[in-house]
Amino acid sequence: MLKVELHTHTSDDPVDIIPYTSRQLIDRAAALGYDALAITLHERQLDVRPLASYAEDRGIVLIPGIERTVEGRHHVLLLNFAGGAEDVRTFADLRRLKAQSSGLVIAPHPFFPAPSCLWGRMDEHADLFDAVECNGMFTRLVDFNRLAERWARRHGTPMVGNGDVHRLQQLGTTYSLVEAPPDVSSICEAVRHGRVRVVSRPLAWGMAAAIMASLLVRYPYLSSCTSAPELAPPSHNSCTTS
Ligand SMILES: [Zn+2]
Ligand SMILES: [Zn+2]
Repeated sequence: MLKVELHTHTSDDPVDIIPYTSRQLIDRAAALGYDALAITLHERQLDVRPLASYAEDRGIVLIPGIERTVEGRHHVLLLNFAGGAEDVRTFADLRRLKAQSSGLVIAPHPFFPAPSCLWGRMDEHADLFDAVECNGMFTRLVDFNRLAERWARRHGTPMVGNGDVHRLQQLGTTYSLVEAPPDVSSICEAVRHGRVRVVSRPLAWGMAAAIMASLLVRYPYLSSCTSAPELAPPSHNSCTTS
């Protein structure tokens, strides 16, 4: 089984200010025993080819990807598309891209309380999503992944565990174990066919607060994915499997 992270941001991100480089992220992933990593900047697909040998030397397969905003607000993760992912602006565009190419579409943080989250668009476009994210930003008492788990179960859609990493300490608490050989296409195909298991553990309150404080200092408006936990109703952990 491969230890895989499919949702990360780095200092190459054109939207968020991230305090580590892609190489530093690769180093951290290698230290934590990851086998594969997708760098998914907002709105820009990083050319991972110049980083491939650096990553390979550290036992990491790099998966090309992007976190694209569609219809002005909703985030979607697009992994391993041959081209055109940066041009997707609507769900109709995404449907066309999927018809032309075999990339992987993941619904990130779909039911978090933020405008970028998909909510009702999940049902409208259920067939577009190959996998649903269990997002690492949760604590023992506050967990927005429960609805995602319910949605995934109802639709028979695989779940993946993602850190949505904006700070290096977010790497390692929630990830996926994928049953595949260590290459990009095989990993994406395995996820699509459900040969994936979520491993997640809740953040301690202190850690969650520290991450949120760090994000809030940089982004008082919280432009991206992570949501303030104090807005949440109490709930139990959803996709915690270990
Ligand atoms: Zn993100
Ligand atoms: Zn996001």
